[in-house]
Amino acid sequence: MKNVVYLCMDAAGMKTKIIFSERSLNYGGWHIEGPQRVRMAQEILKEKKYEFLEPEAASEEDLMRVHDPDYIWNLKKGLVEDPDTPAYENIYEHARLSAGGAILAAKINGFSLMRPPGHHAGRNGAALGVYTRGFCYLNNIAIAVKALDKPVVILDIDGHHGNGTQEIFQGDEKVVYVSLHRYPHYPGTGASSKGNALNFPLSADCGEQRYLETIDEALGMVNLDKFEVVAVSVGLDAHLGDLASLGLTESSYREIGKRIGVLGKNTFFVMEGGYVGEQNGRDINQLLRGYEEKNKVA
Ligand SMILES: [Zn+2]
Repeated sequence: MKNVVYLCMDAAGMKTKIIFSERSLNYGGWHIEGPQRVRMAQEILKEKKYEFLEPEAASEEDLMRVHDPDYIWNLKKGLVEDPDTPAYENIYEHARLSAGGAILAAKINGFSLMRPPGHHAGRNGAALGVYTRGFCYLNNIAIAVKALDKPVVILDIDGHHGNGTQEIFQGDEKVVYVSLHRYPHYPGTGASSKGNALNFPLSADCGEQRYLETIDEALGMVNLDKFEVVAVSVGLDAHLGDLASLGLTESSYREIGKRIGVLGKNTFFVMEGGYVGEQNGRDINQLLRGYEEKNKVA
């Protein structure tokens, strides 16, 4: 009996912790980027016995490492509406808490299951000439990477190109940005690689096999010896039928997770898109199971 207990404890100890706050459910019920995306995912992960941690809001100093003071001021005042991205009441506080989730994930190698998402937000809001901020206010993963101040590989598996993240880290020698995304599609950027931004545009009918071949090629181009940490922008909207479908399924996320795990680095995950809550929960579980199966931190 004793052995059984120890085995269970070991297994539980290896599980990636999920960062989540009920406060992220309190706004935007009518929008496609709404609370159901993370509420249902959280319920599924709870059933799967993941441990949850509550984040604290990021400080203004954390935000200023990434965003312009003028943009932060406008966000505080709610002067940031665009056709995709509403100026909800208290959106500054919601966005700050989501950024804080990413910072905590970076500290503990966890998974931040918070909203709003962030990878379309550039230094001043809309990035690389794109007209909207695509449901994003603050670039959560960028804020976490800047707070860490270590050499980082950012792997963006959201089905949309992370134009904000590319803009923020373009030319930054400490960071390489790797993105697989549907193209042509919103936001219309990421057609080709540029310096430290390695972009892999994929067609809507891509499917799992081609996607996995591409992720292998992409990660093969990164000199991993130069980087200490892997930060993953986890959008699940490349799932078959979701907003930026590339024909992926639950099993594809398991395979993606394994490929992240074998890199053998300290790794954290930050939620981006993915618009079907139940599907998000199942995909995250598979991604983390695949990752945990293979990850052996050096
Ligand atoms: Zn997306």
